[in-house]
Amino acid sequence: MPVINYEQYCQMLDRAYNNHYAYPAFNVSNMETASAVLAGLEEANSDGIIQVSVGGATYASGASIKDKVLGAIALSNYIQLVADSYNINVALHTDHCKLSNLDDYLIPLIEETERRRANGLPNLFSSHMFDGSDILLSKNLEISKKLLEKCHKNEIVLEIEIGVVGGEEDGVNNEGAANEKLYSTPEDMIQAFEALESVGGEYMMAATFGNVHGVYKPGNVKLRPKVLRDGQEALKAKYGEDKRFRFVFHGGSGSGKEEIQETLLYGVVKMNIDTDTQYAFTRPVADHMFKNYDGILKIEGEVGTKAVYDPRSYLKKAQGNMAGRVVEACKDLRSINSHINF
Ligand SMILES: [Zn+2]
Repeated sequence: MPVINYEQYCQMLDRAYNNHYAYPAFNVSNMETASAVLAGLEEANSDGIIQVSVGGATYASGASIKDKVLGAIALSNYIQLVADSYNINVALHTDHCKLSNLDDYLIPLIEETERRRANGLPNLFSSHMFDGSDILLSKNLEISKKLLEKCHKNEIVLEIEIGVVGGEEDGVNNEGAANEKLYSTPEDMIQAFEALESVGGEYMMAATFGNVHGVYKPGNVKLRPKVLRDGQEALKAKYGEDKRFRFVFHGGSGSGKEEIQETLLYGVVKMNIDTDTQYAFTRPVADHMFKNYDGILKIEGEVGTKAVYDPRSYLKKAQGNMAGRVVEACKDLRSINSHINF
């Protein structure tokens, strides 16, 4: 299926909200990981979201080029071309963009979408995230509002963040974040609603409830999913039953299945998965290297075995195993068999 359009994306998110499931959003940084996600989603008969971090986009442009805008465009073009061959729907998303990268990353990507639309081409990305969690909430919302206006004009969904996701991801380190910032308050959520509602655009909100990026040993992460429930209830009490937040769960890797599924009851419609799929990708590569050590290395004047050092020999295994982890995520998020035939 082609990458979905704005109207279809909104329908997908609404259906997830109404039926208490969430779309997994997988970070990719190259053709292999993108193919693994598409294959896994198809196997699960689930629609989903493919996303690119600033670091992933930089990497995708070429290790010596390091051009994040170019890398994001290249990945988007690749996925738009190959997505057509898979029988599921995907949205394309850019992950965490801090204020410092707004002008040299997010804005140029939206402008590229503007150019494409002017030429009758589909959007470059279906949604973008602005992460203003490290600046004052009032400033964060002021910028988010301007961005939502720009996104709305171009039929792009905006994801914002209030509060801080703990841990470390892709060079963004919040391991020392103040404890209270790890849990969003209903007041903060309502302030965000009031800032954005008048724009009329579509947005999702990464509110925090103790979630952290990365994987920690059991017991180290204290999730309080009810923070999300309290936010929805406060919103409905103040502005009416028809109002709702579309929540995004960051740092989903390593979280317990029960906690994940509890968040689905409170309006989580997107959960990000990166660390667990990274491991799933690399695990069979390690196996391949250990098992074929003699053939991969040219030892003592020998020539090695081309069949085992050809990168395709282990990258295929990596893709297959990552696709399996994608299916598992779809089960956890109850998006399995959620494919919508538009
Ligand atoms: Zn995140």
